[in-house]
Amino acid sequence: MPVSSEFPAFEPPKVDIFNFMFERKEREYPDDKALYTDPETGRSYTYASVKAAATDFGKGLRAVWDWKKGDVVALYSPNCIDTPAIMWGTLWAGGVLSPANFAYTADELAFQLKDSNAKALVTQVDFLPVALKAAEIAGLDREFIILMGDKRLQDASFKHFTSIRNISGAIRYRKAKVVPEKDLAFLVYSSGTTGLPKGVMLTHQNITSNLLQLQASESNKLSWQGGPSGKGDRILAFLPFFHIYGLTCLIMQSCHRGFELVVMAQFELERFCQIVQEYKISFVYLVPPILLGLAKHPIVNKYDLSSLRMVNSGAAPLTKELILALQKRFELPVKQGYGLSETSPTTHVLPWDDWKSRMGSTGKLLPNLQAKYLDADGNELPVGETGELALKGPNVFKGYLNRPELTKDAFTPDGFFKTGDIGHEDKDGYFYITDRAKELIKYKGFQVAPAELEGLLIDHPKVDDAAVVGVYSEEHASELPRAYLVVKQGVAANEATAEEISSWLASKVAPHKKLRGGIRFKEAIPKSTSGKLLRRLLKDEAKREGAKA
Ligand code: AMP
Repeated sequence: MPVSSEFPAFEPPKVDIFNFMFERKEREYPDDKALYTDPETGRSYTYASVKAAATDFGKGLRAVWDWKKGDVVALYSPNCIDTPAIMWGTLWAGGVLSPANFAYTADELAFQLKDSNAKALVTQVDFLPVALKAAEIAGLDREFIILMGDKRLQDASFKHFTSIRNISGAIRYRKAKVVPEKDLAFLVYSSGTTGLPKGVMLTHQNITSNLLQLQASESNKLSWQGGPSGKGDRILAFLPFFHIYGLTCLIMQSCHRGFELVVMAQFELERFCQIVQEYKISFVYLVPPILLGLAKHPIVNKYDLSSLRMVNSGAAPLTKELILALQKRFELPVKQGYGLSETSPTTHVLPWDDWKSRMGSTGKLLPNLQAKYLDADGNELPVGETGELALKGPNVFKGYLNRPELTKDAFTPDGFFKTGDIGHEDKDGYFYITDRAKELIKYKGFQVAPAELEGLLIDHPKVDDAAVVGVYSEEHASELPRAYLVVKQGVAANEATAEEISSWLASKVAPHKKLRGGIRFKEAIPKSTSGKLLRRLLKDEAKREGAKA
């Protein structure tokens, strides 16, 4: 029998995201509450101004680009306070947002543009060269490249999203009607349990349900506060807005609950400390490697971080040792949550009250969710035994875009999504992740799909076969991608060097995919009699070898 969440269930919202956010009666904070602030320029959006900017952009999409329901806007940018306006404007117009990692190469971005069938691409001036190259590869017309951010071009060769405000005729457009439980809001990219990145189809109702699930889990004494006065918590937002963690837990939650986000384009430890001090940041959402920096780096001592009330970690395993290391420097509650792109994302959260007594647990199942644990053959295990976590609930995605077979494989016959993560829950319902059955590697919270790197590596003229696995490094509090390679016959051992192949690969991929775990040469890659790569053997080998590249 599956287990059900112990939190009270709710009725999943029957409204689209825009109305859920901007047409609600129970909002506790005022219209002029600042929600998104740029600490570099001081520019800010309030609740009212982000709503207006989003509506203007939505109208512009309809008036200038003849936007239709279901059309995809791709986003290629570091974190920026304009992102929420772009996101809600796209949803206002009935569109779907597909955010891409701003560190992508032109080929990587082109893959997502093509795969998602993006009709427009929003970017910033500094990212135009790569965006243009990618658009050309993907066959996306330059007319459909839109700019955001503070930097402007001298000429008007590309439209800035604010310049289409009040365009003639736009006033007559009305908000698109969507079916919240069916229509897509986001297409985020994840490699799932196997293979190349694919579009994870998230509906409006997936996202609004996850916001309510998060809210339910936070209702104890240490929780977030928006507050009727509008003087709620302030969060430093550097986790990427191109990841579902950033979209839901940061951008959306801030507006839903009334927390101000101080937005950092990307993470840098000293700037992080300066902003915490200057803006009296009270909360941060982070990933374990950043926690490591806060626990150990000498630069942190130069700043007053006493405004921080607590930190929340996600996206990768957080060890008890790391939590204790942080406590030596700050007496700060640290807890974690767990989730996936496919679940919008959060499915488990550790209640704040339990952060000390349950270190290492990713927490409790959120409301409206059911969980079960499966053995390697897909049979259900008694609760308490270790197995693959499978989940059912209103935040579980609709499927992978244009991949019906993979979608079918991702679910059990009775509709539970197989996460690819291995763990168990204890007798009190606290979940612990112990392993990962799927191929996925996570470098500092960023996804690295082994299949993608293997596909590139076997194209190298000296490589015959390749397998990529993750190896955990305590020094980095992260997994590092390591390649096992077989060189082509006739290539002498000293002709194929790890350095050369590593830098060759590095020139083709975003920086988080570099082979930081090194390269090992082998006679053969272990395979089953049917030719299936025996990844587990290599993972064990990597563990024995250790993380040194
Ligand atoms: P993504 O789709 O990029 O959010 O990646 C989801 C994957 O990240 C999960 O399937 C897990 O393998 C991993 N993950 C997320 N949160 C945690 C956590 N708290 N502890 C361990 N692994 C996690």
